[in-house]
Amino acid sequence: MNPQIPIYLDYAATTPVDERVLAVMQAYWNDAFGNPSSIHQNGQRAEAALDQSRRDIAACLHALPEEVIFTSGGTESDNLALRGTAFARRAATGADTLVISPVEHPAVSQTARQLAGHFGFRLVILPVDSCGLVNPQDVARVVDEKTALVSIIYANNEIGSINPIREIGAICRERGIPFHSDAVQAAAHLPLDFSNDLVDLLSLGAHKFYGPKGVGALLARTGTPLWNMQTGGGQEAGRRAGTENIPYITGMASALKIVCNEGPQRGQQLTALRDHLIAGVLNSIPCSRLTGHPSARLPNHASFALQGVNGNVLLMALDQHGFACSSGSACKVGSPRPSEVLLALGLEPEWALGSLRVTLGKNTTRQEIDLFLGVLPDLVARIRAMGA
Ligand SMILES: *Cc1c(COP(=O)(O)O)cnc(C)c1O
Repeated sequence: MNPQIPIYLDYAATTPVDERVLAVMQAYWNDAFGNPSSIHQNGQRAEAALDQSRRDIAACLHALPEEVIFTSGGTESDNLALRGTAFARRAATGADTLVISPVEHPAVSQTARQLAGHFGFRLVILPVDSCGLVNPQDVARVVDEKTALVSIIYANNEIGSINPIREIGAICRERGIPFHSDAVQAAAHLPLDFSNDLVDLLSLGAHKFYGPKGVGALLARTGTPLWNMQTGGGQEAGRRAGTENIPYITGMASALKIVCNEGPQRGQQLTALRDHLIAGVLNSIPCSRLTGHPSARLPNHASFALQGVNGNVLLMALDQHGFACSSGSACKVGSPRPSEVLLALGLEPEWALGSLRVTLGKNTTRQEIDLFLGVLPDLVARIRAMGA
């Protein structure tokens, strides 16, 4: 077997923690382990680390430190944004309509569905084009004074497409409607600018950019209506109760600083590798196509639909050959159902069931991609021949 194997090509699912991040986290387990709310010096050291992390994250994203709310991850950030703003807006103005796209992460779409199904909100789901992009004019068409919140994913986890966030934000801002964007994938690769993106609420999760799992942040612009959804102590200026996880928070700040510094160069390298991979797949596999936008997509993200291939069977075969890839959505082994995101693009089920997502990391090499391209066409041909 090749010494490079196994090869991990699933960085959109999660990333390993950067060694430099681990080193920063180390001090906060049992040395400066205090509770940031405590008066004594040990607590104050923890509070200093918390404040510094908040400032570092704000600086990377061009936000104000007081706009950063630490959470337990991307999912909680999305939940807090949707629930917190939906309830606060309805209480203040009577607005009761949530506007989302059909290509949201489940942390947004399932939250919106529950708010609509059990809490009396109305849900409007916008159309997307065949690349999975929202047209800002469609947002302008559906929003009105009853709109409590618009939530549109920044860059999609399944298909990599990057939405026109600033244009959508401009439409919401003009009408005074809070605008949330799930930037959990975007933060790993795109230069986010909270002061200019016209987003009021922005979700992040550290483990998608070489930080630890179980920590994230919601950026909430000052003045955005937001009820706290977790009640208790006064942490995070009363917006998210619970003793702060200082090791993870310092880890997240450290990881984001590294992305800030190294992201642009990583992006260039990744884009070249990604395009080599995309061309390699499309040229070597008949009846294959790229899903998502060809250029307005994350630099590390390649996703495909392969006609007449069971995606789960392909993933298992790839795994046996040492390649860790994904279908892009959390579909269950055994009862394959096409992903809602791919169906929203207009793909027929026969194509959508054959989805393959290959996402690259900062240390992925051209040699690894070439090894992958050397194996994939034969596996696909064999699975097609089996009729699986
Ligand atoms: C991973 C992911 C989430 C969930 O984040 P967790 O930190 O794993 O809870 C939300 N949205 C998108 C787009 C993601 O990729």
